[in-house]
Amino acid sequence: MHRRNFLKIFGLTLLVSVNSACGEESQGYIATSNKKRIVVIGAGLSGLAAAQELYRRGHEVIVVEARERIGGRIWTSTQWADMPLDFGATWIHGPQGNPLTDLAEQINAKRLTTSYDRTVTYNTSGNPLSEAEEVRMEDLRTQVFRALQKAQDEDDDASIWQVIEPFINQFDESSESYRFINFILSGAIEQEYSGSVENLSALWYDSAQEFDGDDVLFAQGFKVIPELLAQGLQIELGQVVEEIQWHRSPVRVITQKTEFIADHVVVTLPLGVLQAKSVRFSPELPRSKQDAIAKLGMGVLNKCYLRFPDVFWSADVDWLEYVSARHGEWTEWVSFKQAANLPVLLGFNAADRGRAIEAWSDEQVVASAMQTLRTIHGVSIPEPVDYQITRWASDPFSLGSYSYNPVGAVPKMRQELATSLEKSVFFAGEASNEDYFGTAHGAYLSGLRAAQEILEI
Ligand SMILES: Cc1cc2nc3c(=O)[nH]c(=O)nc-3n(C[C@H](O)[C@H](O)[C@H](O)COP(=O)(O)OP(=O)(O)OC[C@H]3O[C@@H](n4cnc5c(N)ncnc54)[C@H](O)[C@@H]3O)c2cc1C
Repeated sequence: MHRRNFLKIFGLTLLVSVNSACGEESQGYIATSNKKRIVVIGAGLSGLAAAQELYRRGHEVIVVEARERIGGRIWTSTQWADMPLDFGATWIHGPQGNPLTDLAEQINAKRLTTSYDRTVTYNTSGNPLSEAEEVRMEDLRTQVFRALQKAQDEDDDASIWQVIEPFINQFDESSESYRFINFILSGAIEQEYSGSVENLSALWYDSAQEFDGDDVLFAQGFKVIPELLAQGLQIELGQVVEEIQWHRSPVRVITQKTEFIADHVVVTLPLGVLQAKSVRFSPELPRSKQDAIAKLGMGVLNKCYLRFPDVFWSADVDWLEYVSARHGEWTEWVSFKQAANLPVLLGFNAADRGRAIEAWSDEQVVASAMQTLRTIHGVSIPEPVDYQITRWASDPFSLGSYSYNPVGAVPKMRQELATSLEKSVFFAGEASNEDYFGTAHGAYLSGLRAAQEILEI
C-alpha cells in the first residue's frame, strides 16, 4: 500500500471508529479530540493489546503484520477438526489474578486444567520410577535447587551448568544419579525457561514473577484471545517491515510492499528478530538498547504432537516424564486424554536439543519420539495416525520461542528494551516485560504499558 492509500485507510478507519464510537460507547470506546496516527508493528498479543487500547481511546491505529495471520507466538492449528492444537503458547500459567483470565471470562472461553499432580516419571529403561528411585530423584532435586539458591547469594554470576558441574561430576556419566540430575536440569529448567543450562544465568534465570493456580488451556485453542483483541482493528497482514525511520516526525515504517507513516509507532518485534537486525532502525538504536538486545537470550521450545488410533498410556495422567540417557531427549510429554478426551501426546524439546532437531525431517523427529515411547510402552504400540511439529527457531518472524536471562544479562535490561525512542517509537513484547517475560500474559501487559505511555504524552 502506498502512502496515499494508507491515508485513505486511515480515513476509513476513522469512519469505522466514529461508527463504532456511536454504537459501542457502552463497551468502553472513548472519543478523543487529540487523535493520533499510530502504527503497531506485530499482531501478536502485545501488539494487539496495545492497538486495542489505543483504538478504544479513539486513536487511528493500524497494525502491520508480516505473517498472513494474527497471533504471533499464539498460533492455533486447526488441521485436526476435532482438536485445535496450540503450536505456541498453550497455557495460562497461573490463572489466579492473571489478566488473561479476565479476557477469557469476557468471552466465556472454555478452559481445561492440567496438573503436575497427575505426573508419572519413567526411568531410562522405561519403567515408572520405583519408590527408591523417587526418593533419590527428590533428594537430587533438593540438592540441585539448594546449590542454585546458594549461587544467588553470590555477587558474581555463573551459568546454571557451572554451578551444578561440581555436583554432577561427583557421579559417573553412566550412573543413574548423573542421568537424574540431567533430567532435572532439562525438565524443570530448560523446558521452562527455554535457554540451555550452559547459558542460563544462575543469578537471574528465575527472576520473573508468577501468578498462582493450576495451569489452564483453551478448549478452542489460545487463538480465542488474539481474536478477541483484534476485534474492530485495522490489520495489514503480509507486510514485512524492513525499516523504521524515526529521526523526524512523522515516523516512517517501510515494508517490503509499501510505506506507512505515523505520529507514534509501537514496535513489538520478538527479541530474536531484533537480535538478527532484520529490521533496520534509522538512525540506529541507542547503544544501551542495542546492548540489552544483544545480551538477553532468545530460547527455544519445540512441540511434536502425535495422534494415535487409541490411548495406550495411563489415561489419568497429564504429564509423562522420561529420564533419557542423553540430556534433554523427549524429557516432557503431555497427554490430552484426561483434559480433552483425545488420543494425542505432545512431546517437547527445549534449548540446544530443541534447536538441533529443527534441522531434522519430520520423519526423523517422529521416529525419534516413537523410539522413546516404545521404550516406555513397548514395541507393539501403534504408529501415530498423524503428527504436527513446530520449528520456532527457524521461523524468520520469531527466531526462537521466548526470552530468558543468560549470563551477562540482568533483569533491568528489559526496561532498557522497553524504553521509548523520544516520543515517537515505543516498545512492547514479552521480552520487554521485566516481571513476566517469556509468557503470554507478560506480552499482553507489555502492550498495555506501551499504550499507556502513548496516552500519557
Ligand atoms: C512453543 C511455545 C510455547 C509457549 N508456551 C506458553 C504458554 O504455555 N504460556 C504462556 O504464557 N506463554 C507461552 N509461550 C510464550 C508466549 O507465546 C509469548 O511470550 C507471547 O505470545 C509473545 O507475544 P509477543 O506479542 O511479545 O510476540 P509475538 O507473538 O511474536 O508477536 C510479534 C509479531 O511481530 C511479527 N513480526 C515479526 N517480524 C516482523 C516484521 N519484520 N514485520 C512485521 N511484523 C513482524 C510476528 O509475525 C508476530 O506476529 C510460548 C511460546 C512458544 C513459542
